[in-house]
Amino acid sequence: MTSFARRLAQVSASPTLAVAAEAERLRRAGFDVVDFSAGEPDFPSPPHVKKAGKAAIDADFTRYTAAAGIPELREAICTRYRQEYGIDITPTEVLITVGGKQALFNTALALFDPGDEVITHAPYWPTIPEQVKLMGATPVIVSTSSNDGFAVHADAVIAAVTPKTKAIILNSPSNPTGALIDEAAVAAIADAAAARGLWVIVDLCYEQLVYDPAPHNLPRVLFARHRSRTVLAGSASKGYAMTGWRCGWSIAPKELTAALNMIQGQSTSNITSITQKAALAAIKGPQDAVFDMLDEYRRRRDSIHAWLTANPRIRCSKPKGAFYLLPDVSGLLSADGIRTSAEFAQMLLEREHVVVVPGEAFDAPGYVRISYATSMERLREGATRILRFVESLQPSSAGAST
Ligand code: PMP
Repeated sequence: MTSFARRLAQVSASPTLAVAAEAERLRRAGFDVVDFSAGEPDFPSPPHVKKAGKAAIDADFTRYTAAAGIPELREAICTRYRQEYGIDITPTEVLITVGGKQALFNTALALFDPGDEVITHAPYWPTIPEQVKLMGATPVIVSTSSNDGFAVHADAVIAAVTPKTKAIILNSPSNPTGALIDEAAVAAIADAAAARGLWVIVDLCYEQLVYDPAPHNLPRVLFARHRSRTVLAGSASKGYAMTGWRCGWSIAPKELTAALNMIQGQSTSNITSITQKAALAAIKGPQDAVFDMLDEYRRRRDSIHAWLTANPRIRCSKPKGAFYLLPDVSGLLSADGIRTSAEFAQMLLEREHVVVVPGEAFDAPGYVRISYATSMERLREGATRILRFVESLQPSSAGAST
């Protein structure tokens, strides 16, 4: 019997660790492992961002800042969201955080009590429900289906509302599906939330990684309908290839931002001063690097999607954003003794030395996640191996099963 806090009882660590450990073992043993598990860009941070970070050190910008972040950076975020989404925010509504993760964590701490229910959609990024559980609240999961590209349907979300519901957390573009939530769905969710006084929290971590022109102005939709209880969580990590710098932000009503600021002031305080200067350069400086990376991700997405779906036994909708494919491998299970997507991932690793993340990690059994944040050459190699692996699996006599 441990003496750890009760809140830990419900929470789990990343379920992807087993595959990662096995991949590491194979790598050490000298095998050429193709790793499709990356949750971060393979690009370096843009040169002007690195330069700004180095300049901050040289200028001795190495002391505490305001816990909420330096005013220029909070202002730059207001300007960016004004330009990009047409929403008007002031720095009093912006808090600079250690990645989007801390923006979500602060928000969870500020809003969720034990006994509250918080609705989100699956397949999900595991941190979302785990943070809810850490607060003693209960995640309520609304499933989406690959049949319609993992669309989040407003009526399903609204049907999950109970008197205990405190908030709805949306993630678009989504990790792991790459799906975008329709503006119309968000509008309907916002109206229902407004009628019931629920918070709507949107994780926009991949907002810059949207591949095809599609109306996706979720901030404006929410601000027009339900601004007083909307929280946006953004991040420099993915769009600017700055995962290690650790910079994100929350955009929330003034009173909530004050509460988030207090939480942060009593926990981590400001994010690294140097990072703030680098993020300022990223947000205010030239955006060419963002668009170049986006173009390259698009080419990779199109290629890996075409290569894999050349085999009709691999069913996979084409993602609209982020940098993940979530193919449905359920039709391949039961064949060759593989019963679950976790076993599929394990066997693919053993036989072909390709690392994918089993869907079980995202409440998506029957799927595996493939990150295309890796070079075209590695994608080609990995796709060849996956296809060879799939071809080696005998269709089960009963046909596709789960
Ligand atoms: N949201 C989603 C959906 C993510 O996938 C991630 C990173 N994997 C984050 C938020 C947080 O990233 P960061 O803390 O680096 O901004």
